[in-house]
Amino acid sequence: MSVQVFIDGAFYGKEEAKISVWDHGFLYGDGVFEGIRVYGGRIFRLEQHLRRMYDSARIIQLDTGYKTDEMTRIMIDCCRRNEIVDGYIRAVISRGKGDLGLNPRKCKKPTVVIIADKIQLYSPEAYEKGMKIIISATRKNAPESLNPRIKSLNYLNNILAKIEANDAGAQEAVMLNSDGYVTECTSENIFVYQHGVLRTPPAHVGILEGITRGVVLEIARDLGIPTQEALLNTHDLFVADECFVTGTGAEMLPVVEVNGRRVGTGKPGDMCRRLLAAFRDRTRMEGTPVYNVSPLEAPIAKGT
Ligand code: PMP
Repeated sequence: MSVQVFIDGAFYGKEEAKISVWDHGFLYGDGVFEGIRVYGGRIFRLEQHLRRMYDSARIIQLDTGYKTDEMTRIMIDCCRRNEIVDGYIRAVISRGKGDLGLNPRKCKKPTVVIIADKIQLYSPEAYEKGMKIIISATRKNAPESLNPRIKSLNYLNNILAKIEANDAGAQEAVMLNSDGYVTECTSENIFVYQHGVLRTPPAHVGILEGITRGVVLEIARDLGIPTQEALLNTHDLFVADECFVTGTGAEMLPVVEVNGRRVGTGKPGDMCRRLLAAFRDRTRMEGTPVYNVSPLEAPIAKGT
């Protein structure tokens, strides 16, 4: 079955799912997006993802045109049509069609795209053996320029760092801010564990406040593991007993090498394993149900 994609009120097969070249999401990266996991037929932390997406849209003065409960129904509909039990929802809201100038006022209606599909960002080997990362020369966008808290369609800063990782034969890159403090990887937050304390950079260094990051902090606190949102520099990465990254797509992925230096034992550590097991438990227990829910959910999109 071809993937059915929601675009502006209707569903289209994968090959027919297209948007205009006049769309400012395409021309200027003017828009926001969100990536959300579905586990066992439930959408994980949907409210938090919607809040972040609507906050991102609000900051750039983009009215999605849908209330959050309508957006929820569309996402549920999208998952059902694509028979997603374990998968991933990508929501993209762009400024919509305008002219060749960048003025968003010329764009009368946003474009709303929802894709529900399977996802596999990293190889099974990366989860088992851990991954190599580098510290990129590309610094993180300054919050006073393009705030990383906005989950915008402008990912070139991150892509430049990912290119460096690719060229260095590493799987990911961690970016420093202009003061040299660790921020995050190109699409994950980063954690270090040392001397019994789990630490991750605070929001103000310039990161996307990851939903998975938040869940891992919650779990650690529930398990009585000391946590700190603290300024980290490269020293902390090199001396860590363990390091791992978190993200919706990646979930939790151990880091075993930074810039060619071994982290801890050079193997995925026990803390990462323990937190991952608790993370898996949470994904099994929580979430907005996609199936067997009452029809609040009368489909608001027409099929094609
Ligand atoms: N940082 C960046 C830059 C990201 O793109 C992502 C993925 N959305 C994350 C962190 C992790 O956030 P989350 O756990 O909400 O997916």
